[in-house]
Amino acid sequence: MKIGVLALQGAVAEHIRSIELAGAEGVAIKRVEQLEEIEGLIIPGGESTTIGKLMRKYDFMDAIREFSSHGKPIFGTCAGLIVLAERIDGQEEAHLELMDMTVTRNAFGRQRESFETDLTIKGIEEPVRAVFIRAPLIQSVGEQVDVLCEYKGEIVTARQGHLLASSFHPELTDDYRLHSYFVKMVEEAAK
Ligand code: GLN
Repeated sequence: MKIGVLALQGAVAEHIRSIELAGAEGVAIKRVEQLEEIEGLIIPGGESTTIGKLMRKYDFMDAIREFSSHGKPIFGTCAGLIVLAERIDGQEEAHLELMDMTVTRNAFGRQRESFETDLTIKGIEEPVRAVFIRAPLIQSVGEQVDVLCEYKGEIVTARQGHLLASSFHPELTDDYRLHSYFVKMVEEAAK
């Protein structure tokens, strides 16, 4: 099972490592043609405006929407979550507009810009270690979206069918269970 990590900017190598710990093969995706080789895609953290610009420059927008239209799973982490969202608070334009949710960028105030915590995520038995770095939160979700985790009353993980999004960086710890969860989504979709 090959899972790609969009390699335009951000934490790519760490995601590939976590995908491999979860038992799948990780591939860095730099060109749209490579989307044909993979069954699932991770859009990593970094800076969403930069990732969005590079996605437009290298023709990834329509190619990833097409990938999604075949039910192939996509997992956005941190900036990747922002890239997946239909609406970004305070911005006219969003990016892929695939997940029915409104997100707020840099939502955890200054003192809490970066922090780690343990989160209880629906579908994963024990709490997961989560690293937040200038993280976004999910302000509101549409009916199709299942909230998987909240932190202090704010939504930080959600799923809409074959789409998964987390505010935090699951790839920066040795805890790869959210990647295992995604690998399972990819296996089920590929059946
Ligand atoms: N603050 C970044 C943004 O708005 C996201 C930060 C991250 O991915 N760690 O794009």
